[in-house]
Amino acid sequence: MAGNAPDRTINLDHGDPTLYEHFWQEKGDRATIVIPGWQSMSYFSDLGNLCWFLEPEFAREVLRLHSIVGNAVTEDRHIVVGTGSTQLVQAALYALSPQDAQEPISVVSAAPYYSAYPALVDCLKSGIHKWAGDAAKFNKEGPFIELITSPNNPDGYNRGSAVNRTGGKLVHDLAYYWPQYAAISSPADHEIMLFTVSKSTGHAGMRIGWAFVKDREVARKMVKFIELSTIGVSKDSQLRAATVLKVVSDSCEHPGPASNQSLFDEVHNLMVARWRRLRGAVKQSALFTLPDFSPAFCRFRGQYFEPQPGSSSAAFAWLRCEEPLEDCQVFLRKYKILTRSGRQFGVGPQYVRISLLDRDENFNLFLERVSTMDLPQSAQP
Ligand code: PMP
Repeated sequence: MAGNAPDRTINLDHGDPTLYEHFWQEKGDRATIVIPGWQSMSYFSDLGNLCWFLEPEFAREVLRLHSIVGNAVTEDRHIVVGTGSTQLVQAALYALSPQDAQEPISVVSAAPYYSAYPALVDCLKSGIHKWAGDAAKFNKEGPFIELITSPNNPDGYNRGSAVNRTGGKLVHDLAYYWPQYAAISSPADHEIMLFTVSKSTGHAGMRIGWAFVKDREVARKMVKFIELSTIGVSKDSQLRAATVLKVVSDSCEHPGPASNQSLFDEVHNLMVARWRRLRGAVKQSALFTLPDFSPAFCRFRGQYFEPQPGSSSAAFAWLRCEEPLEDCQVFLRKYKILTRSGRQFGVGPQYVRISLLDRDENFNLFLERVSTMDLPQSAQP
């Protein structure tokens, strides 16, 4: 098959979580659902709930999984479901932006920030909010919204607010705060916290995310935004998400033998093994460097995370090319490896983000190529 030729292009630009397919194939029919033609026809799911399009079964499984993992405080919060956390970022921006201010509120995030944020904030050239760049350099007076991704996409580090003053409205994007990627040091406890199945269970195509929101009025406005943009969120997807989350919770509560680990253990082990091999290949090439992570205690596992020096399990490799290379994306493209340039994350072209969530065959081919890379003649010192 031409698609499997050893010299084919490998696309590691997107964080497409196809690595997870293996876990779900092993689960066979346990996550299969059948929806009869007459079911989930109404717009409405739960008229008594502020989020009237939230499927109660989905909400129950969300709460169950968080209570098992211990990665978020869920008491006294409103749950708002979204079409992916992408819609929830937009809903949160809508809810937090004053409608009658003289100028749009500034939206910032510390560089390197998730590359989609600037376009998500500015795509409609809204009169209520405006992208204002790197939170660490933001020094304008007045109110602001800060998007905080922790662990961060692209570099995997844990983060707090980076703006050097109080008074901001914070949105915590916790897409990667799950035990396959990071130590769960304590339950996150913030005003607005966003999660998604795309990175927790690998079901990006289901397009389901959820937010925990403390303030009722903010939650109400987020619900209004989703009502205006899509009149709710697919019930079919919520029902499927409920089933998938249930299987993940069951896999934690009743783990089987090694061949039947919990999703978090299986994916974590895969990620650690990938990182170990990646570090080996990067060291051998001497062209790049990778971030280092410190050991941290994971309460979910009851043990230290990444106790081996240099081990990690972050979803992306944030690769920096060393001199004399200047543009890492252009250099890797010569080897038919597509990556996302540091420029898109608000930093320079010496960085690229590489997805580590792809299928084995792509990851293996990528490593083979990294191990045999040479400086181009023109760049040799
Ligand atoms: N936030 C972050 C930090 C992400 O990395 C992603 C996915 N790449 C999203 C949000 C969007 O996720 P979803 O598929 O749920 O829209």
